[in-house]
Amino acid sequence: MDTGKKHEVIVVGAGASGMTAALVLAQHGVDVALLEANDVPGKKLLATGNGKCNFTNSYQSVECYRGGRPETAMELLDRYDVAYVLRFFERLGILPKQRDGYWYPNSEQAASVREAFVLRLSELGVPVYVNTHVDEVRKGKCFLLAASHRERMESAGAKTGKKQAKPVFSESRRLIFEAGSVVLATGGCAGNISGADGSGYALASAFGHQIVPPVPALVQLRLAEKAWKVLAGVRLNAALMLRITREEGGQEVRERGEILFTDYGLSGIPAMQLSRFAACELAKGDRCGKIEVLLDFFPDTSENDLQRMLLARFLAFPGRAAANTLTGLLPAKLNMVLLTLSGVLPDMDVLRQKGGGMHGVKRCAEALAHCMKCFTSTVCGTNGFESAQAAAGGVSLNELDARTMESKRIKGLYVTGELADIDGTCGGYNLQWAWMSGLAAAEAICGGKNK
Ligand SMILES: Cc1cc2nc3c(=O)[nH]c(=O)nc-3n(C[C@H](O)[C@H](O)[C@H](O)COP(=O)(O)OP(=O)(O)OC[C@H]3O[C@@H](n4cnc5c(N)ncnc54)[C@H](O)[C@@H]3O)c2cc1C
Repeated sequence: MDTGKKHEVIVVGAGASGMTAALVLAQHGVDVALLEANDVPGKKLLATGNGKCNFTNSYQSVECYRGGRPETAMELLDRYDVAYVLRFFERLGILPKQRDGYWYPNSEQAASVREAFVLRLSELGVPVYVNTHVDEVRKGKCFLLAASHRERMESAGAKTGKKQAKPVFSESRRLIFEAGSVVLATGGCAGNISGADGSGYALASAFGHQIVPPVPALVQLRLAEKAWKVLAGVRLNAALMLRITREEGGQEVRERGEILFTDYGLSGIPAMQLSRFAACELAKGDRCGKIEVLLDFFPDTSENDLQRMLLARFLAFPGRAAANTLTGLLPAKLNMVLLTLSGVLPDMDVLRQKGGGMHGVKRCAEALAHCMKCFTSTVCGTNGFESAQAAAGGVSLNELDARTMESKRIKGLYVTGELADIDGTCGGYNLQWAWMSGLAAAEAICGGKNK
């Protein structure tokens, strides 16, 4: 066991918020070190924004943040607004560019964001202990951190010039660190990325912190209806409403945008935006209400107008099979499912259905318009953390000082980023939160010298 690596501040986790905190602390001359479980810092950053890193968004409002106390994000935004974050990035050498208010590095490479952090941390002389997984943090006179550390070994493949499939590591050994302050910046458990093991929850709860049970957020929805499997691959714009029905009052949340049917359910940004509400409800187990998702494939047309449009279409193509009258309206697979749902036989002329004649045509148009405006499915689950872009839940914000992210229980302990009970919507909000909370903790530790 190695003992006694002492630093003024130790940041646990070299991800988005941890690297931000360490960088600001080092700029103020604080002796800070980063402890990182992975073999390189910022692995998750590489996966962000489909490899382009959507690092913030010009539009900011409290609805963009969710969790026990989303107002905390607005309080931090007063100090670290988007302009502040853009300046911070420019100072790192990242030229920002925006598309519809979504900010990316001009390189469109998430790797360049990580690289900019790594370069600056190295220039500032910040030690980054990689392959160092912190298992325990305790506080006496100072903080004591116990970590398991593995050395990466030179592989046989490296000697022969062959690419090695998996890195080889030494046996792990115990390292002990001492620090005056600790920033827990371990992130949550979302993403199929090593290091996202949720170990930060245990580190915080060991200090008595309340942990709001984490659930996957920004993840795909799983639907109960097996019949929708035939829709896999269908992509289209729709308005979505997630409806939760419970005895003690329900909840409705709306989104709009491009969805993708999959063989298990629904993907696409609007479905992912709704998922944290479904996941929180599902986590109630036996007390879980009924969760449905209602899709409107014509959100800009009223049901009456849609009926009239369908009627005109049926009458314009007399003698055509019902399915053929819908050609060009919605994706063909969806037309078939909607016809079946509305009780219209796809292969038969509508003039001969539902009682026949004009009356039958009208009834077909009514039934179909209703299904197109209100396609209802039961949500039976979400995909797991490995598919999620964020974790909802985490260290309760009631126990953190909203200005500094310092624990109200343990002086000198700070919690930043996704480990705290706040999750952003899609669009750069999770990273905005990570930067802001890292900045707040660092500036609080060095006494606000930067302000
Ligand atoms: C596929 C994907 C795409 C995303 N795209 C976007 C996007 O475009 N825009 C956006 O705003 N957000 C996006 N996010 C979310 C965003 O990446 C996270 O919210 C953000 O990285 C959280 O920052 P953090 O500092 O809290 O944690 P992380 O960035 O997850 O960093 C935590 C670090 O701590 C390390 N660690 C964990 N436990 C320990 C331990 N016990 N000891 C030592 N080290 C430890 C981990 O290895 C990791 O490096 C995406 C997420 C995913 C998975």
